[in-house]
Amino acid sequence: MNEAEARERLVAAARRMRERGLNPARSGNASVRFGAGFLVTPSGLAYERMRAEDIVRVDPATGEAHGGKPSSEWRLHRDVYERRPDAGGIAHTHSPDATTLACLRRPIPPFHYEVAFAGGSDIRCAEYATFGTQALSDRALAALEGRRACLLANHGAVALGATLEEAVELAERVEALARLYRQALQIGEPVLLDEVEMAQVVEKLRTYGK
Ligand SMILES: [Zn+2]
Repeated sequence: MNEAEARERLVAAARRMRERGLNPARSGNASVRFGAGFLVTPSGLAYERMRAEDIVRVDPATGEAHGGKPSSEWRLHRDVYERRPDAGGIAHTHSPDATTLACLRRPIPPFHYEVAFAGGSDIRCAEYATFGTQALSDRALAALEGRRACLLANHGAVALGATLEEAVELAERVEALARLYRQALQIGEPVLLDEVEMAQVVEKLRTYGK
């Protein structure tokens, strides 16, 4: 993948997130690992106007940005790529139902087997910190331990994948699960799957779609 292709893929991913309603207004951002660093969507640019040349390249060693102002959450992206070699792409959303649960600081328990797509038996909610800060990145990394997605308290959600496209798909799945969980809570208390059942699903998913 050359840089021009990586930029196009990132613009396509950002548009898809926007079309799926994952990122209202100018919220959220996405990135793709590239070389020793990464490419990330720019700060505060409307998704429908985003072009390949607007994408910003960040040097992780210096934090230096090339080609514009990177998303305010660039530290989170930098730290995930540094600490998680399994991450090839990251999608950060303010999607409505995941954010609703995040505002309640309510993690998603194993109420549906698809929760295991995030890597384990729950999707945690990271402690609150101001957007764009190192504290937010640190708390998100802690909530992502052994997982590929988490909620961010009073903020949104983040998902990572082996590829950018997998990250976006997981972000969509987290939003769908959050919606189902919220709906189930409106009727009653969902029955949760136990650790053994969830471990079986995690194991099955290791080979799913590969
Ligand atoms: Zn955000």
